Amino acid sequence: MRLAAAGRDVTLLEKERYPHHKVCGEFLSRETVEYLGVAGINPLALGAATIRFVRLSSKQRVVEAALPFTALSLSRRALDAAMMARAAESGCELRLGALVDSLARRDDVWLVQLRNGESLCARTVFLANGKHDLRGWERGRGAQGDLIGFKLHWQLAQVQIEALREFMELFLFPGGYGGLSLVEGDVANLCLVVHRRVLRRIGGWTELLAALLDDNRQIRQRLQGAKALWERPLAISSIPYGYLAGGVSSLWRVGDQAAVIPSFTGDGMSIALHSGSLAAEMYLAGAGAEDYHRRLHSQLRRGMALATLLSRAMVTSVGRKLAPLCLSLFPNAMRWIAASTRIPERYLLAKPAE
Ligand SMILES: Cc1cc2nc3c(=O)[nH]c(=O)nc-3n(C[C@H](O)[C@H](O)[C@H](O)COP(=O)(O)OP(=O)(O)OC[C@H]3O[C@@H](n4cnc5c(N)ncnc54)[C@H](O)[C@@H]3O)c2cc1C
Repeated sequence: MRLAAAGRDVTLLEKERYPHHKVCGEFLSRETVEYLGVAGINPLALGAATIRFVRLSSKQRVVEAALPFTALSLSRRALDAAMMARAAESGCELRLGALVDSLARRDDVWLVQLRNGESLCARTVFLANGKHDLRGWERGRGAQGDLIGFKLHWQLAQVQIEALREFMELFLFPGGYGGLSLVEGDVANLCLVVHRRVLRRIGGWTELLAALLDDNRQIRQRLQGAKALWERPLAISSIPYGYLAGGVSSLWRVGDQAAVIPSFTGDGMSIALHSGSLAAEMYLAGAGAEDYHRRLHSQLRRGMALATLLSRAMVTSVGRKLAPLCLSLFPNAMRWIAASTRIPERYLLAKPAE
């Protein structure tokens, strides 16, 4: 949108035909909401739910804390469709159903090959294909590349909807962690990650859900009498948590192609929006992709390292036992973690309101 507004010819290639669901906790941090505002998107107008508190549960234990900011929650189906519409209004040429098969550089030109046989040329490419890798341009594995993600929408019983309202409920279970919150229309989004080894040992999604409900009283209570809204959950494997792109290519990587922060931070979308904005501003100012990657790397390095360390601890049995205990002993720890794993405010191009 920023490039199109500056008069550049922008073609957006998207393999899906909108709207569609994506594996995501659907938590919009304060920074995400600010960046969306700059893009002309108001999640509240799309029905987003408000989130003011976090509740962490592990086995029988539950601790609560106020978030250091007001967050929102909106399905990716609604949000991404709104983003696509804004991109079109901003002058981007949208090509939906355009699956990129390969990308190659010849002299000063990028050649893009689509699955439907078409090919395109471009002077510059911003690689924003998110969670999945493009052949030949794979990311590193990340410091924690052995988790599998699932997401499923539920219709909860009315009493559980009221109990969940304004909360992001984070939960720990053997080999994984996840979040439950309301999105638009009082639908509940259950999103979790689990260690590949644990999933292989217990079977598949059905067994995993049964194990979670057996282990975690809070989530068992929330899903009592609930109805799954899809036949099967969405899934994604081998998420490269902790991955942060280096600066040795003329390709501009943005979003998950630049950095993949562990999901419990709820910061992936703000990094995606921030990296996209930073890349566009630097490109328009005449900088190169290497400088952009170096700058983004230095901005995100510390938060990424801490988030990955905590994420690795959370999937161990010791971490699962200690996390609620630490948070009940040190109520400010939640604030400190939230502040220390986010993009430092001085780097944001869209400043959050106080
Ligand atoms: C389990 C889990 C929970 C998460 N929870 C949260 C959360 O609560 N809050 C938060 O802020 N972040 C969360 N995230 C992170 C967040 O989902 C991502 O960081 C964010 O979506 C990255 O945006 P993106 O645009 O880079 O990628 P995506 O949103 O994945 O978009 C990439 C797009 O590229 C398209 N595409 C892919 N390959 C091709 C191709 N070859 N050709 C054409 N198009 C292609 C895809 O269809 C997709 O639409 C979570 C992630 C996971 C895994």
